Amino acid sequence: MIFAGFASAPRVRASVKPSDLRKTIKKKEKFMTTDTKPPPFEAPFNQQLLGNAFSEFAADHLSDDLYRLSKHLGTRNPDAQAHGFLGGEFGYGQHFKNAVFEMHPYFWGDCECGFEERSEEWQRQHRHSPDCYQTHLRAEQRKAGLSYVDRNENREIKIFEETVKRSYDEARKVEDQIYDRLLKQFSLPKGGWAVHCTCDHDPAFEKWCSENHHTPECGIVLPNFRHFASGLEVRWYKYIGRGMSCNQEITAEVFKKIADECVTWSAATAA
Ligand SMILES: [Zn+2]
Ligand SMILES: [Zn+2]
Repeated sequence: MIFAGFASAPRVRASVKPSDLRKTIKKKEKFMTTDTKPPPFEAPFNQQLLGNAFSEFAADHLSDDLYRLSKHLGTRNPDAQAHGFLGGEFGYGQHFKNAVFEMHPYFWGDCECGFEERSEEWQRQHRHSPDCYQTHLRAEQRKAGLSYVDRNENREIKIFEETVKRSYDEARKVEDQIYDRLLKQFSLPKGGWAVHCTCDHDPAFEKWCSENHHTPECGIVLPNFRHFASGLEVRWYKYIGRGMSCNQEITAEVFKKIADECVTWSAATAA
């Protein structure tokens, strides 16, 4: 389901309740040690709401070789390397492109192709109806003094931090009570608690999104790594190893060969 209401909707595929994330992490740990086919990618909540595009499959098992490739590029051309704090010395990658592959650091900017402006304009002209779950949810969160995502305004409204002195756990408890009550009232499943829409807004936006796209060059959708021959695309969230997804089922073993090829061919490319 598309997280309609966000200008960045196409980068959002599903919703995960924070408590579900622990299960996801457990699943991923298992998958990293067995090198089986990647499970479907479930983006962390913040990545879903505010992050860049992500792909279908989890890609944590490609991290080591991507880091190795990034280190190779960063060593041969240190000036081009992007830097951060948590991702390690070479976790951020650099802009690089040759005939074999391309790499790009995480894109922190806004849409460069005009798609999001058009999307926001669409949102301004199409609101959730007053009796939609989404409208009720926002109203209840606001009333309870909780920060919330206004899917009409396409942004997170921060209330809790400034006005209500409550611990994080207390706030989540209040929030859970709101979800439980509203989900029951609307007979909706728990999955998708933040994004359910019971009016015609989301289907209309999904249709609009299926007909309107970012351009492939826009930083929002450009993959962080692309291997041209295989068509493999990998995306990370801020740095290699975090929120990693890819567009193909690929084993670490096969990817190692691709990374080897990329190292060889970047060595042969002028810095
Ligand atoms: Zn764009
Ligand atoms: Zn709605």
